[in-house]
Amino acid sequence: TLPFSLFVKAVEQAPVAISITDKKANILYINQAFTDVTGYNAAEILGQNESALSDKSTPRQIYYDLWHTISRKQVWHGQLVNRQKMGQRYLADLTIAPMLDDRGAISHYIGMHRDVTLAH
Ligand code: FAD
Repeated sequence: TLPFSLFVKAVEQAPVAISITDKKANILYINQAFTDVTGYNAAEILGQNESALSDKSTPRQIYYDLWHTISRKQVWHGQLVNRQKMGQRYLADLTIAPMLDDRGAISHYIGMHRDVTLAH
């Protein structure tokens, strides 16, 4: 079997921005690619809400749809306009999946996103 530390390294070194949040989207963990994409390091962003990344130009209906989906234990995929620490806007292609505890209740969310500004 694989050592546990290898799973941690896999997430830390995955070439996609990964964050783990609580049920209210407060950020508990980020990987290296998250820092590369957003400009925020762990000390700056842990404890903040994912909404800190929002450019505030995404229609509210999209956020409503996002929460409607993930709070029903389903995976949401879509594109949002985000803003890096230094202010640069980018188009985020984001997938959010609920993480379930042993009883099947939502305990956390995992977010995975890429900057697809140039691909657009
Ligand atoms: P908010 O006040 O956060 O909410 C907007 C609407 O969302 C509300 O009216 C409500 O309908 C719904 N809502 C909010 N919180 C909850 C809740 N806890 N339960 C049920 N419904 C709720 N946003 C981005 O802009 N960029 C990102 O990269 C991004 N990544 C995310 C990653 C993860 C893992 C999660 C869980 C969320 C992510 N979000 C992201 C969504 C973010 O948390 C905010 O909901 C969003 O940015 C809107 O913020 P707001 O302050 O404008 O509005």
